[in-house]
Amino acid sequence: TVTRILEAAGPTETEAADPGDADPGNAPPATAGSGRRRAAEPGNAPPAPRDGRVELCGVTYGYARSAEPVVRDLGLVLAPGTHLAVVGPSGAGKSTLAALVAGVLEPQAGRIRLGGVPVRDLDRGRLSRSRVLIPQEAYVFSGTLRENLAYLHPTATPPDLDAAVHAIGAQALVQRLGGYDATVDPAVLSAGERQLIALVRALLPPARLVLLDEATCHLDPAAEAVAERAFTGRPATLIVCAHRISSALRADLVLVMDGSHCRLGTHDRLMADCALYRDLIGHWDERAEPARSASPEGTLE
Ligand code: ADP
Ligand code: MG
Repeated sequence: TVTRILEAAGPTETEAADPGDADPGNAPPATAGSGRRRAAEPGNAPPAPRDGRVELCGVTYGYARSAEPVVRDLGLVLAPGTHLAVVGPSGAGKSTLAALVAGVLEPQAGRIRLGGVPVRDLDRGRLSRSRVLIPQEAYVFSGTLRENLAYLHPTATPPDLDAAVHAIGAQALVQRLGGYDATVDPAVLSAGERQLIALVRALLPPARLVLLDEATCHLDPAAEAVAERAFTGRPATLIVCAHRISSALRADLVLVMDGSHCRLGTHDRLMADCALYRDLIGHWDERAEPARSASPEGTLE
């Protein structure tokens, strides 16, 4: 069965879907495409997205031709500045969708646009100009903390840096590491500390779209909420692939993925008519208030 979501969160100039126009096969981005890609032509500056509008039309992607597609005929429109949470069980295709929207993977059928520009035409070498994708395993290199934080936006001023660190809730980490000019040894950082660095990094550039793919999963729930809120209320569209369903409660819209079956709606609407979503929320409620042990024991001396 074909699942299709087409929900306009505002007026759109999306062209009609034309899956036949997509590249055949699943070539990696660097080699995919043809002369139609303006970005590949020497002397042509890559087009810049006009805003954070995200448009998917008939998007289909599978890792192997023989297998069921992970994403099937997905249509979705997000107005600039929308905060979308993508939830669903492990293996549902959340990371695949994030990679498609970022232009890291190219769909076998359908179109994806950011700010009116096909993501395949956006500059791939400098992802940060238009969009930022932060994966679960945050990348930190040996260098100064400042170099790590400003990696996607080297012209960030000291006040920019301070504001971003503060918004993400990373002040204590900056202090502990000895300030911006201290050299960072990635090997001694915890997974959560690496994520804080990656989140500050993602907040700095004036991107049109920020994709956080489980990018806060090693933070505690309170720190995760602070970090996520830092990305909201800005012109950039925010897509959060969420490990914790609590992320959905902070979002404007939620996309529930389950194999190639998807549902899009507000939290209230999904609670009313999506059994899988109710199930995910139900499990979270149980975890939020774990049953107490009948006879707690333990001493600390
Ligand atoms: P999620 O992020 O929701 O856990 P993914 O998008 O990572 O899901 O994966 C969706 C499906 O695609 C899974 O069945 C996974 O095994 C498969 N998959 C993911 N990455 C690859 C890959 N590089 N090659 C082949 N299959 C993959
Ligand atoms: Mg994933």
